[in-house]
Amino acid sequence: MELIDNYGRVLKDLRISITPRCNYHCFYCHPLNMEMSDPPGTVSVSDVRHFLAAAASLGMDAVRFTGGEPLVRRELPQMIEAAASTPGVRDVAITTNGSIFRQRHKELVAAGLQRVNISLDALDPVIFRQITRGGNVEDVLDAIDLSLELGLHPVKLNAVVIGGVNDGEVPALTAMSLERPLHVRFIEYMHLNNAPFDEYRRQFVSGAETRRRIEERFGPLEPVETHPSSPARVWKIAGSQGTIGFINSVSEPFCSHCSRLRLTSDKKIRPCLLTDLELDIAWAFEADDPVVALKQALQTAAGRKPEKGSTLPTLRQRVMLGIGG
Ligand code: SAM
Repeated sequence: MELIDNYGRVLKDLRISITPRCNYHCFYCHPLNMEMSDPPGTVSVSDVRHFLAAAASLGMDAVRFTGGEPLVRRELPQMIEAAASTPGVRDVAITTNGSIFRQRHKELVAAGLQRVNISLDALDPVIFRQITRGGNVEDVLDAIDLSLELGLHPVKLNAVVIGGVNDGEVPALTAMSLERPLHVRFIEYMHLNNAPFDEYRRQFVSGAETRRRIEERFGPLEPVETHPSSPARVWKIAGSQGTIGFINSVSEPFCSHCSRLRLTSDKKIRPCLLTDLELDIAWAFEADDPVVALKQALQTAAGRKPEKGSTLPTLRQRVMLGIGG
């Protein structure tokens, strides 16, 4: 069975945000003064288990836990175990800032974690601290080394490029793909943080511009084949171990191939990252047979997935931190 939306897109990929909390405070993701604890009603391990059983029965086979920062959630290993043991789920990953990966990696790998996406916007410690508002880049570099040692392939690195902030870091980040199998993905800054519109427009850097800078320094990139539903268009520097991807969500939206649905930590399905529409499905988790009810909720959500989202700067009801990237 497949979950197909009104535009013929087969929905296979789930993003589950398991907490609105984060120990970093990246300015492009959320304003300060966010939650310090998970509010009552935050998605639980058994909620995740039921949700995944329903989703997998509809053919959704890839799950990525995100947040907030998923590693600040104590129950993350149990959630990974729930995903890894759900028949039909073939891909279990996390998106993390990597800051406490060293402390938690054993329990995550034992639970069945297969892959990691690690966010890294700068190698320069000062710029890194400025963006994350307090983070230490050494912790993240250590998480990257450890992920490679653990064989959590492919190890993907996410960098949001912000003009005047970290665009000068693009060559150094690119160079990370040369000697090791690291897959660096440059993400266009989306207006999902309610930043002042003018400031956002000033700081936006297109993927084409980022690519130009890379080719200026490293020469022409070679194309690497990717699945059409992948958000990244992927290239490599000749002879390198890793790749360079561009996620051009703003300048080249890839809505027609979107295969994703998101569950927020307060139990809402968000069918499109760039559309405020959310379906509150808390009722389905409380039903006598939650798996049946969640299946129905997922089908309803698929039917409400818009053809495309809006990348125009606009005031959002929820910022990226709460949606789950
Ligand atoms: N805390 C985790 C992390 O740092 O990876 C997971 C959550 S974070 C919201 C997931 C991803 O969304 C990160 O790679 C982050 O850089 C990206 N992100 C956040 N705000 C964004 C924005 N305004 N535009 C583009 N990407 C954004």
